[in-house]
Amino acid sequence: MQSCLADIELDSQEKIEGIDQAAAEQAAWLLLKSLGLDPESGSLQKTPERVAKMFVELTRGYRTCADDVIGDAFFEAADNEIVVVKNIRFSSLCEHHLLPFSGSCSVAYVPNGKIVGLSKVGRVVEFFARRLQVQEKLTTQIADFLYDKLNAQGIAVKIQAFHQCMAIRGVEKRESEVTTLSLRGLLKDDPDRRKECLALL
Ligand code: ZN
Repeated sequence: MQSCLADIELDSQEKIEGIDQAAAEQAAWLLLKSLGLDPESGSLQKTPERVAKMFVELTRGYRTCADDVIGDAFFEAADNEIVVVKNIRFSSLCEHHLLPFSGSCSVAYVPNGKIVGLSKVGRVVEFFARRLQVQEKLTTQIADFLYDKLNAQGIAVKIQAFHQCMAIRGVEKRESEVTTLSLRGLLKDDPDRRKECLALL
């Protein structure tokens, strides 16, 4: 299943508390200046403002309340068959270089009498992706959050992503894709269920 996420809007003032947009603009201005560029020149004039706004947007996960991500979109499940949500597209920012990494996240879980609205799984991915991340941490945060909220018997989260900081700088490995996997509960401890879920992912 392909899930395309609607943006989580910064729709209330309290969610953007703590942001100093003017300071962020100054920082972007200074960065340009320190690279020997003229931030006041025509084509760069609006760049500090744009950069500041962009980073506010790309870090909105910090200012979204965790309780709002799933809300009350839980439903009782009659059976406890495995549920798989595949290929949720995401973009995040690497915390080492502030460059994007993007790819897809797939989630499998074995319910414990409770399932969650499918689109909410995508919102959870978005919630953790919209902050400074490393892929390993992103994967475990999604797994731990859903495992806890769902009280699931088991959960598996698999992320495959391309990292711009690998592609355009340093070793310049343009084609390298990084895969990370987090397993919890039954899907970690029961070899048969783990095999079943890995085949589905
Ligand atoms: Zn990086």
